[in-house]
Amino acid sequence: MASQETSIQSLGQEVLTPNYGQRNMALVRGEGIHVWDSDGRRYVDLLSGLGVNNLGHCHPEVVKAIQKQAQTLIHVSNLYLIEPQIQLADMIIQHSPADRVFFCNSGTEAVEAALKLARRYSFDKFGAGRHKVIALESSFHGRTMGALAATGQPKYHEGFEPLLEGFSHVPLNDIDALKAAVDDSVCAVIIEPIQGEGGIYPCQTQYLQSVRELCDQKNLLLIFDEVQCGLGRAGALFCSDLFDVEPDVITLAKGLAGGVAIGAMLAKEEPAKSLVPGTHAATFGGNPLACAAGIAAFNFTIKENLPKRSKKIGGNFIGSLNQLKDKYPQHIREVRGMGLMIGVELTFPSAEAIGALLNDGFITGPAGPNVLRFLPPLIVEEQILSSALERLDAFLAAKK
Ligand code: PLP
Repeated sequence: MASQETSIQSLGQEVLTPNYGQRNMALVRGEGIHVWDSDGRRYVDLLSGLGVNNLGHCHPEVVKAIQKQAQTLIHVSNLYLIEPQIQLADMIIQHSPADRVFFCNSGTEAVEAALKLARRYSFDKFGAGRHKVIALESSFHGRTMGALAATGQPKYHEGFEPLLEGFSHVPLNDIDALKAAVDDSVCAVIIEPIQGEGGIYPCQTQYLQSVRELCDQKNLLLIFDEVQCGLGRAGALFCSDLFDVEPDVITLAKGLAGGVAIGAMLAKEEPAKSLVPGTHAATFGGNPLACAAGIAAFNFTIKENLPKRSKKIGGNFIGSLNQLKDKYPQHIREVRGMGLMIGVELTFPSAEAIGALLNDGFITGPAGPNVLRFLPPLIVEEQILSSALERLDAFLAAKK
């Protein structure tokens, strides 16, 4: 067994590009909140893959839907109607502020679609010259060239210049900075209502409301990147319910199809009209398999009111983490987040806490160098979070 593992590790090092910095540990099975490694050791997954498995691993309703769809139809082209795609779009529209959906396969693709829509809509309505997009500092929008240029963290840009032209970045929650950055060449503003990769920083409600007003005054599209914070993660299905602000465009991915690759760009009717035939496409976008999984996952999310559950359980967990902060002010600088999207800013590298929790059987992750991130499945029991908290408490107590 040990030699098989060693060979898979060394083979991985030979055949894969080295971009992930992976742990020497293969996760081979999952069920609910648990995953097992190749030694048969069980872990509680408090990161949900990476914000994906909102319903836990291999949710039975998602598995059933995938099995049924796999026996029926896996791929046909978007030149024909795809029934599960239309049904999933209809469900999303019924529960969101949007009127139209474009499906793709990942978060970064959803962001690319949003950026293209913003430029094209502006071109159709106002003519050429309004192509710029304003994004926020410390944001993360993905790794493809458009989403990368929108991302407001220089470390992701290094070595990939020249970046796509037409992006600028302003500080989070600073409406005056945003106002100062808007000129006649700007067509859109893109914001994660709660920044994820950048360190779990929620926008203030007043800020987002002022951004909406500004976008209305200046005819800018307001794009909410809800790839990480949407679909119940932060305590509401869509961020418009959390902040009482309706964007024109929303990007989704991660939690949308119970673990199957999918992305979606949602738009209001008027801008959506600009995506006329030929303007945009994705071969696998909205494929029957992913959409069947999406329907099952979305149905379960609504049926069990997972956003409400996330808000309640997450609120309690944030409260307990704040108590831990009071107990260990020398170790915890701040606790941030909404619902079950939580960051604990430490005074030391988060890798230490992540490693200690992993040794105790809990998977967590970083959000920047000092932030310990929790994105547990929305079905998690409070008691599980309490045991993770106990382990964190013990680790901090022992820490010099
Ligand atoms: N947008 C946000 C807010 C994200 O958090 C991420 C990924 O973490 C992305 C976009 C990119 O998603 P993907 O990795 O599926 O391309």
